[in-house]
Amino acid sequence: MQFHYIANTPVRSSTERTLPVIDPSDGQAYDAIQRGTPEDIAAAVQAARQCFEGPWSRLSAAERGRLLMRLSLKVAEHADELAAIEQRDCGKPTKQAMADAAALARYFEFYAGACDKLHGETLPYQEGYTVLTWREPHGVTGHIIPWNYPMQIFGRSVGGALAAGNCCVVKPSEDACLSLIRVAQLAAEVGFPAGAINIVTGFGHEVGDALARHPGIDHISFTGSPAVGTLIQQVAAQRHCPVTLELGGKSPQILFADADLDAALPVVINAIVQNAGQTCSAGSRLLVEQGLYEPLLERLGEAFGQLRVGPAAMDLDVGPLIRATQQQRVWDFLSDAQHAGIPMVAQGTVVDEAPESGFYQAPTLLRGVPVTHRLAQEEVFGPVLAAMSFRDEDHAVELANATQFGLVAGIWTRDGARQLRMARRVRSGQVFVNNYGAGGGVELPFGGMKSSGYGREKGFEALYGFTTLKTVAIRH
Ligand code: NAD
Repeated sequence: MQFHYIANTPVRSSTERTLPVIDPSDGQAYDAIQRGTPEDIAAAVQAARQCFEGPWSRLSAAERGRLLMRLSLKVAEHADELAAIEQRDCGKPTKQAMADAAALARYFEFYAGACDKLHGETLPYQEGYTVLTWREPHGVTGHIIPWNYPMQIFGRSVGGALAAGNCCVVKPSEDACLSLIRVAQLAAEVGFPAGAINIVTGFGHEVGDALARHPGIDHISFTGSPAVGTLIQQVAAQRHCPVTLELGGKSPQILFADADLDAALPVVINAIVQNAGQTCSAGSRLLVEQGLYEPLLERLGEAFGQLRVGPAAMDLDVGPLIRATQQQRVWDFLSDAQHAGIPMVAQGTVVDEAPESGFYQAPTLLRGVPVTHRLAQEEVFGPVLAAMSFRDEDHAVELANATQFGLVAGIWTRDGARQLRMARRVRSGQVFVNNYGAGGGVELPFGGMKSSGYGREKGFEALYGFTTLKTVAIRH
């Protein structure tokens, strides 16, 4: 049985109701979490406020940094344990779970070093004045986290907020929260004061909503679906609470005929099968210059056919999807494709060892997907790649920008001038040229344009979002 973690203490829900924790590899419940309530959120906010106004604000920036560094080292020490927790909870193959644990340690390390680098300015103004600006933490920040990368998103969001001097109330996804409860315990072990990090589990429409509405929350960092992002924004607007929204994507991978195919192919595949396609930045649309289209699809089809899907612990190319409804969602997209006559080029294989009760989906490559079809417009959140061809640069830009989203774009060409032209014309928060994701570097600011959200997390940029600027004008 798992409990909320409030003020460095395991806490039962005020109603004592629980939710099952399901292993996506076999669909079976193996643990339970608290089904939180608005009262639990209120308790967590109170603990965070007391910490913020007490011990946390008395720490210098350098001392906050040292605590974060201790947490980074502790996470690294417990990487195997954390990865194992996340693997079972989310169905991640071992290499993915280990990469997530390493990224969590790296986020804390990065933000540890950033704490005492955040500074204000003195401004030239009229004679007789001294004007300065400084950055203050918001106070108590709320963090609503999805199930696809719990540790990574916690690291970038909570790590940044703590570094900027805030105390945090975290609402993980009801589908994956065990690793975050453990991280909060580790934080207590390395000396984080009670109330700096608080975790309340439960349903989004219950505790997530209560968190977004609570007047004691001074900033909300939301990562999740565009639909819930809209709700959060509406709720937050009632009391003018600042919000950072990290939402979905329908990101294009654009290949020109002069692309280095040997380098591109494994990256293109990984961008859609990593985490079973359940990645906000998944490269789910493949835009290929006409002359390259047929040869590329042939090579890609062969590679897709060799992909193997199975239980997380088998550490194959792809693990299960998170839950049955997600599996159904992918099936619905594929059935729509079939009805629309969209040809399937190739599909991977679900291995025999995969239990029937698990939530498996073979990676699927589709071709000739019309730009207006929902497969080219909506986030599938599964390992489904929609390929289409383009005539020239203008056409590539038109297709790339023809969705409501603007999160990531990958561009493959050896032509330096075209790299820059394309990077400028594609509307997305991140553009990766001759790579995809740049290895996920924690230093790189990350966020969306259009319906992919606004505000930035990761990198130093995140610290600006987790602070508010104060201007002080002194007349002499
Ligand atoms: P979701 O929107 O269903 O849930 C996200 C979180 O919001 C969960 O903790 C959930 O409990 C909570 N929630 C649900 N309803 C709520 C409500 N009414 N009020 C407050 N909170 C509520 O998303 P998901 O299915 O967990 O995650 C998948 C989505 O997240 C995809 O759209 C994906 O693209 C997006 N995502 C974006 C990024 C990014 O950085 N842009 C990263 C990861 C995932």
